[in-house]
Amino acid sequence: MAHHVPENLPSGIKHYIGGEFVDSLSGETFDVLNPVTNENYVAAASGKKEDIDRAVAAAKEAFDNGPWPRMLPRARARVLNKIADAVEAQDARLAELESFDSGLPITQALGQAQRAAENFRFFADLIVAQADDAYKVPGRQINYVNRKPKGVAGLITPWNTPFMLESWKLAPALASGCTVVLKPAEFTPLSASLWAGIFEEAGLPTGVFNLVNGFGEDAGDALVKHPDVPLISFTGESKTGEIIFANCAPHLKGMSMELGGKSPAVVFADADLDAAIDSTLFGVFSLNGERCTAGSRILVERAIYDEFCERYAARAQNIVVGDPHDPKTEVGALVHPEHFDKVMSYVEIGKSEGRLLAGGGRPEGLEHGNYVAPTVFADVKPDARVFQEEIFGPVVAITPFDSDDEALELANSVRYGLAAYVWTQNLTRAHRFSQSINAGMVWLNSHNVRDLRTPFGGVKASGLGHEGGYRSIDFYTDQQAVHITL
Ligand code: NAD
Repeated sequence: MAHHVPENLPSGIKHYIGGEFVDSLSGETFDVLNPVTNENYVAAASGKKEDIDRAVAAAKEAFDNGPWPRMLPRARARVLNKIADAVEAQDARLAELESFDSGLPITQALGQAQRAAENFRFFADLIVAQADDAYKVPGRQINYVNRKPKGVAGLITPWNTPFMLESWKLAPALASGCTVVLKPAEFTPLSASLWAGIFEEAGLPTGVFNLVNGFGEDAGDALVKHPDVPLISFTGESKTGEIIFANCAPHLKGMSMELGGKSPAVVFADADLDAAIDSTLFGVFSLNGERCTAGSRILVERAIYDEFCERYAARAQNIVVGDPHDPKTEVGALVHPEHFDKVMSYVEIGKSEGRLLAGGGRPEGLEHGNYVAPTVFADVKPDARVFQEEIFGPVVAITPFDSDDEALELANSVRYGLAAYVWTQNLTRAHRFSQSINAGMVWLNSHNVRDLRTPFGGVKASGLGHEGGYRSIDFYTDQQAVHITL
């Protein structure tokens, strides 16, 4: 199939500040690459401190003097639902652009656009239904919670499923009445610029949404350090999280951090093996393996280990790698040549740390572009780098275990604690084991499917704070206690 280039690509990507598309004050731009050809296909405005200053000023003006923070929840919800309608109405186009910019398979990019719409619907419903606490001391006092949006929220997002992850921050921030400055990832700025048109169409007041493109160390850093931005919601690597944490400290900012992962999938001998194999393949090879919750370490009970490895590897070898726009493609092109080189270096490291069962390099016939064959290593020891470190690509490590205790020790033996997947038919073990794992989220005999009401977030080096449902609203609002003497 010839490589598909979407029609009507923008001729340049700009910032969006105070309701207008603008260039950087410095005039600087950076190149954005097509992950299939690695050619520059568009230039994006490269934001610096002065661009962030402008964007924060616009967001602050909209917060201090505009209607958005003062609107009734029902009125805000109407706008949020219109945003969801607008996203849904153009989901095919959004998926086409997202797939082109990030290398995600088109069918999976479509699912992400639909999830983005759902995030807006969900938070629209939530703010209308929201109740806050009130306490009565009979005859003496009434005490109640007055919830207030915090102000200008700084949102910093990564390049994996960029549009959906932006929506995961934009929807609750806007629903709460905050105004925002979004700094999207520099590898994939295309979809973020589409929000401006969607928000205008839905009637979001001017200045509520502002976008500054650019590099983390310039635009991202200036946003984190801006004194008029009281909270930062960040998704990205744990190392970046450490830097942002330190830079928020002098301002004592509110922080929500969704960071890296190296999540275990634990398969016991009594598991429904067909379902476990399906799910563990999906867990690490969907979204090109560029997924924070990827089940990238599979721990398998010794009694079924050989059978599991053989069946898993056979399935992995049959995964279709190809052009992201081809509906048959299951693994597309990795986002960027730098990331491709990182993943390929782990593939080489893995060859001396485990037994290669599938993949191991570039797929045959795909000589150019950031393609990596789904790669499976077995017999990986827990001190191996491919067991310990986040690879963020289509690479999985399989390790045997002999007892529940050993499985738990292996599961918990990395610095991360984002997600875990457990496969067993034994109900008691299922719950006991799940509750003992150091992970923010556990999927038990289940695919990674989100319920938006549940907490989302990691423990240990995988994050700080939990979003999801009312937790997100809590993050973007202050809860003031008002006491009245009767
Ligand atoms: P990254 O940390 O390199 O970059 C993320 C964002 O932070 C980008 O917009 C970048 O420009 C910005 N940034 C970089 N340095 C900065 C600084 N000093 N100050 C402010 N901003 C800065 O991450 P990435 O490579 O884009 O994304 C992949 C990572 O994200 C993986 O580790 C993955 O696990 C993680 N992730 C986590 C979740 C989750 O929910 N836990 C979800 C998706 C991705």
